[in-house]
Parts: sequence; structure tokens; C-alpha cells
Amino acid sequence: MINTAKRLWNSFSDELQSAVYPAKCGLCSSWSDTPICDLCQEELKPVASPTIQGIEKVLSVYWYEGRASQAVRMLKYGSATQLAGAMADFMALAYTQDFADQIDWIVPVPIHWTRRFERGFNQSEMLAMALPADKLFCKGLQRIKPTSAQASLDRAHRLNSLKGAFNASKAVHGKRILLVDDVITTGATIEQCGHALKLAGAKQVNALSFACVP
Ligand SMILES: [Zn+2]
Repeated sequence: MINTAKRLWNSFSDELQSAVYPAKCGLCSSWSDTPICDLCQEELKPVASPTIQGIEKVLSVYWYEGRASQAVRMLKYGSATQLAGAMADFMALAYTQDFADQIDWIVPVPIHWTRRFERGFNQSEMLAMALPADKLFCKGLQRIKPTSAQASLDRAHRLNSLKGAFNASKAVHGKRILLVDDVITTGATIEQCGHALKLAGAKQVNALSFACVP
């Protein structure tokens, strides 16, 4: 009896809560039951695989434009944790379709500890949160060199500034690795992460990102 009353109260208070605080789309702010509404989802453009030197297979889920770039920027700079779950679900779907049985460990691209301190989280780790937890190895890579904001650097400069920026755990030896990142711009970050992982003996390196610059 008490349980029934509790259940009734819970479902009543859920309804009350959604009536008082109706859910909104994290991108366009229109009313929506999901963190990213149907219209915004339709605006996301699926992407093919970019190629990056030394990386076996690269998959980006969406082109980095419109709603997809808005989502990446809001996650990185606006701490939009409500969006993170929806974005992580898209990543998990791509993982299941394209990588599942071929991966030993999933390694999010690390940020330097100073930046992590500043931001409070690593967006790549957040995007990996819906991937199989038993394969997640967040300490597989370490960023040992802080790098300045690189958006303006061209590929050659970017590669150069990233040299020696990453250090891989010896535990990746003989393993098939999947790198996870929010956005692939020139591919230089993924390339250098792959290089560090191979130096530590990784058997194969793959990459999955939410977005990719056209
Ligand atoms: Zn929307």
C-alpha cells in the first residue's frame, strides 16, 4: 500500500516536474523530449572516413558544421552536460556498427592537466561515456606538453607543435586501440596520439570522433 502510494506520488511528481520545467533542445532551445530535437538531428550531416597517417580506420560521425559544430563548441566551452549524453549515444551507435569486436581498448584523446583544471572535464572522455566501460582506458595516453589554442595553425605547424606532446602507457602493448575525440580538424592530434601509442607497442590504432572539419 505504501509502495503503491509512493509509486503514484513519484509518477505524479515526475509529471509535475516536466510540466513546470518542460525539456528543451540543447541546441535550438525549442521544446523537446530529447536533449537534441528531431529537427536539429536532421540538420546533422553524416560523414565518411577521413584518412590519417598511421591510423588504421578513422570514423567521424558528423561534419563539423551547423548544429554539429554548435554541439561541439557548447560541450567544450559551455559545459553543456545535457548535450554530452545525446552526443555520447551517437558515438556509441557508430562504435557498435563499425568497431565493436575489433577493439581491445578505448582511449579518449587527453587534454593537459592545466586545461582540465581550467575546464573541469575532458570533453573526449565525456563523449566516450556511452561506450563499453570495461574497454575504457582513460590513462592510456597522457598529454605531457600543454599546447596553445591551435585553431589558427596550419597542418605543418600544428604537427610540429604537437611533437612529443603525448606519452602512452606501456600497457597498450599488443593492443588494438580506438582513440576518441570530439572533433578532427587537421588530423594532427590523432596522428601524434597514434605515433605515441605505436611507440609504446600498440598493435593497431583506430579513431572515432563526433565531428570532422570538411
Ligand atoms: Zn533543436
